[in-house]
Amino acid sequence: MTHGKTVHELHSQLAAGKISSVELTKALFERIEKTEDQVKAFVTLSKETALEQARAADLRIKNNDNITPLTGIPVAVKDNMCTQGILTTCSSKILANYIPPYDATVVTKLKAAGAVIIGKTNLDEFAMGSSTENSAVHPTRNPWDLATVPGGSSGGSAAAVAAGEAIVATGSDTGGSIRQPASFCGVVGLKPTYGRVSRYGLVAFASSLDQIGPLSKDVTDAAIMMNVLAGHDIKDSTSVDRPVPDYRQALVSDVKKMKLGLIKELMGQGIDAEVKAAVKKAADTYADLGAEIIEVSLPSFESAVATYYLIAPAEASSNLARFDGVKFGHRSKEAKDLISMYYNTRREGFGPEVKRRIMLGTYALSAGYYDAYYLKALKVRTLIKRDFEKALGRCDVLISPTAPTVAFKIGEKTADPLAMYLSDIATIPVNLAGLPALSLPCGFSGGLPIGLQLIGQPFAEETIMRCAFAYEQNTEWHKARPNV
Ligand code: GLN
Repeated sequence: MTHGKTVHELHSQLAAGKISSVELTKALFERIEKTEDQVKAFVTLSKETALEQARAADLRIKNNDNITPLTGIPVAVKDNMCTQGILTTCSSKILANYIPPYDATVVTKLKAAGAVIIGKTNLDEFAMGSSTENSAVHPTRNPWDLATVPGGSSGGSAAAVAAGEAIVATGSDTGGSIRQPASFCGVVGLKPTYGRVSRYGLVAFASSLDQIGPLSKDVTDAAIMMNVLAGHDIKDSTSVDRPVPDYRQALVSDVKKMKLGLIKELMGQGIDAEVKAAVKKAADTYADLGAEIIEVSLPSFESAVATYYLIAPAEASSNLARFDGVKFGHRSKEAKDLISMYYNTRREGFGPEVKRRIMLGTYALSAGYYDAYYLKALKVRTLIKRDFEKALGRCDVLISPTAPTVAFKIGEKTADPLAMYLSDIATIPVNLAGLPALSLPCGFSGGLPIGLQLIGQPFAEETIMRCAFAYEQNTEWHKARPNV
């Protein structure tokens, strides 16, 4: 049983020669073969190249040549991150045939660390959604209950890690897409500070919000991943040139004298009672460990979802203009001239949610509406940032539920986009302010995992990871595995 294990557990086995990366990688593919019919976490599997990378990793270990904690470890990559020579579809028909000629920086870094890329995970088309049901390929199912969604948009990555189909995975988070699926699938998900991880080679959704981060079985694995993923990249002008700490060093189980702010607005109406109870209990655990818990209010949260659904679609409408059938991706065969080629390509290539976002965004940016919608949204974004600054001036870390409910049923919200949008009520404000936040398991309701969100100051990943680690060391939730 290698599949339920963490990166750090397997690293010890690999380094001690108890198991080889080839064996481990083969075991993972056997696990995938067994469970993938039910979970459907992947869009593309890259077994051949994975085994090549595993052989190279074994050699590296044998020669004691620059071994890292990720050397020989099977990793899954969300399918909106470019992988040279391997399909990168964004779970969209418009990129169904797209094989990138280059690697995303995070993929380059994972490969350099010796990780084994086992495949590309499913997502809501172009990362637009909260359930992975907007994938043009297939919906992914939650390993804890196959009738429920894994969350989204990094639902494939979260489900793969939870089901033991990958040891660890990458995700991207624009409004909650790492944290909400982490919460639904009972794993750890970290959205780093905007600019902490390079987005070069990440297919852009909303460029002022997008950030890449890890999904893992525990906080230590998240730190191991961040040690590789974080850092400045000249290929991404929004990546910040600032030293990368050793995140693993930050993992001391001590929150004494730390001040944690429980967000009032996320502990009231609209949040499931059992979710609230679990978060309250987590706060009590922190208090027992010597932290001080205060209540903080961020009144502008009320407008966060509305603000996000102007800014994110506006940016998406611009970013997605590049998919025109000319240079890459799908091209309609029904074209009579250039304009009809554009029309037909985009009509055939994009799914309904993506079209909805492009239309919303184009509308919000159009002359006559720009001031009323887009500009107004930018102003509210500033208010949200200020609320965070105020709250984080009073405490070290903010805590809240990651999502208002546990995983919902497949099909439950597909007919009602607004209800779907509201499942990101706790995660969206964090992206608007560019802050780092982490979700970790803190309980169950009806057999489904509940996530606790920890939010920090810009570039305070170490603080939230330390805080998460302390909780993990004193609870057992992160050890639970689904029965799939
Ligand atoms: N669920 C949100 C949306 O649909 C966030 C998605 C994301 O973070 N990529 O936009």
